[in-house]
Amino acid sequence: MTAGDTAADLLIVGAGPCGLAAAISAQRAGLRAVVVDAHVVASTITHYPTYVRFFSTAEKLSLGGMPFVVAAEKPSRRDALAYYRAVVEHFGLEVRQYERVRAIEGAQGAFQVHTHTRAGDERVIRAGAVVVATGYFGSPNKLGVPGEGLPHVAHEYREGHEAFQQDAVVVGGGNSAAEAALDLWRSGARVTLVHFGPTFDKRIKPWVLPDFENRAREGSIAVRWNARVVDIEPGAVRVTTPAGEERVLASLVYVMTGFAPNLTLLRDVGVT
Ligand SMILES: Cc1cc2nc3c(=O)[nH]c(=O)nc-3n(C[C@H](O)[C@H](O)[C@H](O)COP(=O)(O)OP(=O)(O)OC[C@H]3O[C@@H](n4cnc5c(N)ncnc54)[C@H](O)[C@@H]3O)c2cc1C
Repeated sequence: MTAGDTAADLLIVGAGPCGLAAAISAQRAGLRAVVVDAHVVASTITHYPTYVRFFSTAEKLSLGGMPFVVAAEKPSRRDALAYYRAVVEHFGLEVRQYERVRAIEGAQGAFQVHTHTRAGDERVIRAGAVVVATGYFGSPNKLGVPGEGLPHVAHEYREGHEAFQQDAVVVGGGNSAAEAALDLWRSGARVTLVHFGPTFDKRIKPWVLPDFENRAREGSIAVRWNARVVDIEPGAVRVTTPAGEERVLASLVYVMTGFAPNLTLLRDVGVT
């Protein structure tokens, strides 16, 4: 072994809530568990909209029986980040951040996990067992249209201030799209929502739907249902609708079409 190489009973890939929960359980079973994350602890949550509140209550998000207490009805993104940091410290979990797992080799009882640190070091962790807890936010689902890579196009939503008095187009029909459109409108943007379906997904949060429907009905937010994006230009989005082609003004475009998990590590070890 070279410097930085490690041996563990259990190697956990991903320091999100599931990876941390696995580490706590392993620790309680008397195992040495090492958690490796390509970014920071709970990095997926760092990508949430800045002011979002969880759908789940704090109790449902808590780990290892450690109380997660917040004053509001639902925890904020910031509450959750503080809680998961505290979990790592409280349980003394061995978490290696900014170290990406590149490959898993071997088999039950004798895995070799190859990692790459941010400083450029290549490491090997030998582990009896491996848990892959890399979540399902691997990469955004792209529209695959010309102009999607332009600088005014985002695949994540943070907050609406940047769109004050701007034309903004939100693409998507899920909860993230609806919440982004509402937040943009409340931040003073002129918002058009474009979705290829005839209405929103069924899984939209129950309190978000009437809010959006009322804004659409009163004309505060424009909506193009059954509309597909053809391409994105610096100042507009071209869409096809049942009524024909249309150029919708947009100095900012938010593509809220979900994420796909990265399954490469699992496929490499034969998990299908
Ligand atoms: C806006 C928003 C609100 C949400 N609200 C809720 C809610 O109210 N309740 C709820 O239950 N869920 C909610 N979710 C979903 C929730 O975030 C996920 O279910 C949860 O993060 C999944 O946890 P996880 O540990 O499986 O994966 P993640 O939290 O995605 O963690 C995976 C980790 O793996 C790391 N990783 C990936 N690949 C590698 C690699 N090759 N090497 C090393 N590390 C790697 C990543 O950096 C990441 O830190 C919400 C999601 C969003 C976007």
